[in-house]
Amino acid sequence: MSQPAAAVSPEITQLTHYINGAHVAGSSGRFGDVFNPSKGVKTSETPLASKSEVEAAIAVAEKAFPEWAATSVLQRSRIMARYVQLLYQHQHELATLVSNEHGKVIEDAMGSVLRGIEVAEFACGAPHAQKGEFSDNVARGIDIYSMRKPLGVVAGITPFNFPAMIPLWMAGMALITGNTVILKPSEKDPSCPLRLAELFVEAGAPPGVFNVVNGDKEAVDALLEDERVKAISFVGSTPIAKYVYATATAHGKRCQAMGGAKNHMLILPDADLEDVANALMGAAYGSAGERCMAISVGVCVGDEVADRLIDILKPRVEALRIGPSLDTGLEMGPLVTREHRDKVMNYIQMAQDEGSRLVVDGRDFVCSGNEDGFFLGGTLIDDVRPGMQSYQEEIFGPVLQIMRVGSFEEGAALATDHPYGNGTSIFTKNGAAARTFADKVEVGMVGINVPIPVPLAFHSFGGWKSSAFGDHNQYGMEALRFYTKVKTVTSRWLESGLDAEFMMPVLK
Ligand code: NAD
Repeated sequence: MSQPAAAVSPEITQLTHYINGAHVAGSSGRFGDVFNPSKGVKTSETPLASKSEVEAAIAVAEKAFPEWAATSVLQRSRIMARYVQLLYQHQHELATLVSNEHGKVIEDAMGSVLRGIEVAEFACGAPHAQKGEFSDNVARGIDIYSMRKPLGVVAGITPFNFPAMIPLWMAGMALITGNTVILKPSEKDPSCPLRLAELFVEAGAPPGVFNVVNGDKEAVDALLEDERVKAISFVGSTPIAKYVYATATAHGKRCQAMGGAKNHMLILPDADLEDVANALMGAAYGSAGERCMAISVGVCVGDEVADRLIDILKPRVEALRIGPSLDTGLEMGPLVTREHRDKVMNYIQMAQDEGSRLVVDGRDFVCSGNEDGFFLGGTLIDDVRPGMQSYQEEIFGPVLQIMRVGSFEEGAALATDHPYGNGTSIFTKNGAAARTFADKVEVGMVGINVPIPVPLAFHSFGGWKSSAFGDHNQYGMEALRFYTKVKTVTSRWLESGLDAEFMMPVLK
């Protein structure tokens, strides 16, 4: 691994951008701090690009575009296949970078890298997937065919919680379809994205095709406003997603902007509560709840279901195995930053102040030997009600809120009426109820006895309502459509002469 690094002090490394196949030092003079959240110490600084640095990267990507777009789809597919091999070879190294800067435990980080690799694997099938349409002899001697053409330079702007998977959602599909890419990863964990771009060049891609520019709002704004960038794919929180969508589209760009979430699990009285508890433990507390598909609300139909479920969950939440992310056999690591942990703790306080009942309060947790780490214990809250602010907003931490409702309809309405609509799940043995729920609920991704229904790479990922703005989901055929524009050719090869036609052409 040739991780970019000019040491600025014995402990702190200085990260770079990755432009035109090379590590480029930042020149803005602005840096963001990157931490190891398990230890609570700063490990590196990432450059925060200025507008002119972003513009220089766009120029590189624009220059690389014609040749990459003209490269045969088979050749691009072969490069992608080599990339997949390299990603597998380096899966543990990539997961370690993720785990070190994000704080998710190493086994979970390995899984998240795999879910990104799966998109690159799907992308290898582009020669088939990108085939156009052809209509033969629509009139005498006339054929019509449609092609999917790349857009040009496209940009991906990604959140902190999946620094391998989400960049690969975007880059895999954008690159295979012939676009050149500028990735602007989260400034909280930028090392893995840099390595992803480096490996693509190692796989045989020309330099300049996959670039990484590190930065914050200034870099994002430069990408949103520059007319050479043709499309923006964003994943992050809802307020920023709204801003990105409005700004990108005002500048004439194609834009998909995925936002935050509040995912409900509806638990019917006939569900096996041991299964439900197992599902909830992983879905609520895995990755310390820092997943946009985490279940953060358990909706119990009936007090008896709620009481029994809480009896099962309480000792398990108290006994969660929490520790430094590179230790094995753990269930949860720290949160990404001290600020984020404080924000989650404030929500726990808010929930208490609003009158809900703290069954397990994770704020008391101390990780012995790692007292400075950004740890928070699992938190379980009962008696949550719809009007509470702590219910209406996304918490994005290891906090599970339990609600009690009187009927299936009342529970299903909660997911439909909530402003977010990313994922939801129902646990039941009643097929008809599950089918009705899946059919009617106003949410983009639904699990039936599956707690985290993240679709595989050959389907596509996207929420509804305040969880996503714009058209087309991430990855799968939806991404192929997002990253291409259709050109349709009507052709006639004449065997005899052509008459002048003054009327609207009507093909016969
Ligand atoms: P964030 O919105 O703070 O940051 C996302 C990206 O936007 C980062 O690259 C960041 O640098 C940039 N950014 C931040 N502030 C900006 C501003 N004012 N102007 C322009 N750009 C700005 O999100 P985060 O905290 O990194 O990630 C967590 C959020 O992402 C959660 O809300 C989570 O639900 C969401 N998320 C959604 C999905 C999904 O597919 N719906 C997937 C993963 C995460």
